[in-house]
Amino acid sequence: MTTESQLRADIVEVGRRMYARGYTASNDGNISARLGDDRLLMTPRSVCKGFMTPDMMCITDLNGKKLQGDLDPSSEMLMHLEVYRQRPDARAVCHAHPPIATGFAVAGIPLDRAVLAEVLTTLGSIPIAEYATPSTSELPEAVRKYVKAHDGMLLANHGALTLGTDVLSAYYKLETIEHFAKISLVARMLGRENLIARDEVDRLQGLRTSYGIKAPAPICPDPTVLGDLLSGPEQMTCQVVRAPEGDGRSRLVADPIVPGQTSAVARATAPDGDEEIRLTYRELSALIEDAIRSLR
Ligand SMILES: [Zn+2]
Repeated sequence: MTTESQLRADIVEVGRRMYARGYTASNDGNISARLGDDRLLMTPRSVCKGFMTPDMMCITDLNGKKLQGDLDPSSEMLMHLEVYRQRPDARAVCHAHPPIATGFAVAGIPLDRAVLAEVLTTLGSIPIAEYATPSTSELPEAVRKYVKAHDGMLLANHGALTLGTDVLSAYYKLETIEHFAKISLVARMLGRENLIARDEVDRLQGLRTSYGIKAPAPICPDPTVLGDLLSGPEQMTCQVVRAPEGDGRSRLVADPIVPGQTSAVARATAPDGDEEIRLTYRELSALIEDAIRSLR
């Protein structure tokens, strides 16, 4: 059992790291941890998380009633309380606005494509909880749908939320989400994402067990039901991972067209002849070679 002073120190350290890495600006973000069975340690509101001291933390009960502390608890306390209510295994919660991941949340693009093996074996998928006004009871409602099956999620037009078995593990999941978002953004800017095929995703899921990684829920087995699952009001009980069927030869499947980014080849074959096209040198050479061949 972590002592109270250690928990306070961990929250201060994680706040410092979140601010130093640009996951929060000004007084944004909040961190909490379970202090025994019926109390929480919570960061205070209106304080920069990069400059906290251990004595600043509030102690609340599981309904959010302040029991101790000079400052008031975080304005996003309701969201934290909902996580602890839904996930008895959660011992810490982190919320911040990491800019690249939040960019995905603003664009409405969930981080649920089968891109990185490490992410698939740890977090699985990172969905987007519906937009809700920050600090109101709407936000815990939006989070409720996903929190049973996910250790990390994006919050539409707001930020990211993670939970863990201790303060650092919740924080590391925030790092993983931002890192994943960064890599996804670069791949999309390059115009292509090679996705991990479903067979390989199933294999990676098997590794969770052999590595002893505790996942809150399995990957959804049937991709055809995804639409119903995502649009319905029920809590998710599995994780949506978008992975194409492989061709049996390669474990990666090229996916040149990603939302908001059309590949050069797709642009080159666009039906509207007036649109600007951009080609790589190799693509241009191939087109010229084809044209010469057809002239012969
Ligand atoms: Zn926020």
